[in-house]
Amino acid sequence: MSDTGAKAGPEPSERTVIGITFGNSNSSIAYLVDDKAEVIANEDGDRQIPTILSYVDGEEYYGQQAKNFLVRNSENTVAYFRDFLGKEFKSIDPTHNHASAHPQESGETVSFTVKDKAGEEEAASTLSISEVATRYLRRLVGSASEYLGKKVTSAVITVPTNFNDKQKAALVAAAAAADLEVLQLISEPIAAALAYDARPEAKVQDKVIVVADLGGTRSDVAIVASRGGMYTVLATVHDYEFAGVALDKVLMDHFAKEFLKKNSGAKDPRENARSLAKLRLESESTKRALSLGTNASFSVESLSDGVDFASTINRLRYETIARAVFEGINRLVESAVKKAGLDVLDVDEVILSGGTSHTPRIASNLSNIFPQSTRILAPSTEVTALNPSEAEARGAALQASLIQDYEAEDIEQSTHAAVTTVPHVANAIGVISVNEAGEEVFVPIVPPETAVPARRTVHVSAPNGGDVLVKVVEGNTHIKVTQPEPKTKENGDSKAAKVEDADDSDEEDSDFSEDEEEEEKREKVWKIGSTLAEAGVKGVKKGGKVEVSITVNSDLSVIVTAREVGGKGGVRGTLTS
Ligand code: ATP
Repeated sequence: MSDTGAKAGPEPSERTVIGITFGNSNSSIAYLVDDKAEVIANEDGDRQIPTILSYVDGEEYYGQQAKNFLVRNSENTVAYFRDFLGKEFKSIDPTHNHASAHPQESGETVSFTVKDKAGEEEAASTLSISEVATRYLRRLVGSASEYLGKKVTSAVITVPTNFNDKQKAALVAAAAAADLEVLQLISEPIAAALAYDARPEAKVQDKVIVVADLGGTRSDVAIVASRGGMYTVLATVHDYEFAGVALDKVLMDHFAKEFLKKNSGAKDPRENARSLAKLRLESESTKRALSLGTNASFSVESLSDGVDFASTINRLRYETIARAVFEGINRLVESAVKKAGLDVLDVDEVILSGGTSHTPRIASNLSNIFPQSTRILAPSTEVTALNPSEAEARGAALQASLIQDYEAEDIEQSTHAAVTTVPHVANAIGVISVNEAGEEVFVPIVPPETAVPARRTVHVSAPNGGDVLVKVVEGNTHIKVTQPEPKTKENGDSKAAKVEDADDSDEEDSDFSEDEEEEEKREKVWKIGSTLAEAGVKGVKKGGKVEVSITVNSDLSVIVTAREVGGKGGVRGTLTS
């Protein structure tokens, strides 16, 4: 961040800070009021503000107003540009820009040509991607300043986990040109996790979180270990196929086909740019309505050849035709868990964030791959879930308020670890205890993926007292699979029938995930690994307790201390990594 060469920011005491999410599809602004992060509505009343600029007769429109211009002013409307920041033309994917201003090569970077001045004779301007981002951020900050009644000076902005240094520098520079100091860039999944953990009812405990950030043009999944309030990103996957626009496309095809069926002789609305834009906008709003209700309408005036079209669709039908996308999202999440070297049984929480996460079927499909004990934090599965479109902006606002009093240089120093992968222990470290059945079992003290340095303490009961031997060992989990008792099936070929239906999914209602079959039982069990240390605590009282402390240093060396609770002395030993 320091390599931007930007002018020094405001004094900490003069800052007014906000949190910003700056997406390819939508952006949001949030601020902190009475310790609670709130997402701000812009002048149009929108909290999800389309990341779009449009120019008409020299006037600049942004957000939803600009989005509406995609129908009749598409060539002067710039959309889906965030991911192009800091990139060379040859490495961008312009797929989503075919129905708006086209990105073009401009030296090392990308630009757009639009008529942004009034008057027929005015030549079009070529705007660099940085200039587009600056203009857009200026509008966002303007809306926030207007709402707050004072000039916003600084922000924490969220970025995807795969944003490289060049992209980050380009974003910081674009913000600086909009007179906005970037206090910090934080990764999107961490922002979502922060928003959840900052709630008063949240218990900050060690856990493994999956953050599925499902947006319009991309789906990003991150596996995050939260240990002692510190977040470590264990693995990430990024996908550009199974996201919101793919769901729009499913509905666009559905309604276009229906339109053609009902209006024989009419032109396919997908073959004309203006009709296609209308089809796309209305399909997206129908899709959003289907997240709330079980039925939604679709209605477009003069869809094609001057013919109006109105229809309805129910949720079940939508879920059937969109099945491939939903299944893709499930596979994506599973692959991220696998990439982190974990099992679904290791996951404590799944945070669904991003606009597409409002879709009830996505949340319920995900709950099918995780055990019941895993919390699926989405509006349709958990009443207390945060609005998935707002979680990241709130997290960014919380972080902004937390660090606003620091000098710029100190921020970089003090918060670095929160956003990058930090060293962590691979295996758990714990002690061996004996269960009621007399078997040796592993009791974890330092969970796996704990960021180091870390210190944990437990009390181990010593019911018989005397000389107690504490064995400190590594532990790792394995998944114990118990097959169900074989059952005779009443209808042996029901599976085969289902597979056939899948080919004709357009017509059939789906029941793809509600299989009532008894499943094999999978449980996570600890396996005792290699012994790290043995400590003998002498003369423990009957029914007493032994306190075992384990400290893992940054170089992964381990210090173990063991002593009787309330007793004197103790044993201490250091092990090198
Ligand atoms: P990206 O950068 O991936 O393009 P983003 O982070 O800019 O996305 P989001 O607002 O998170 O944008 O997601 C936008 C997507 O969410 C759009 O496809 C939009 O249609 C979809 N969406 C918004 N609200 C809902 C809803 N209630 N139900 C279903 N989908 C929704």
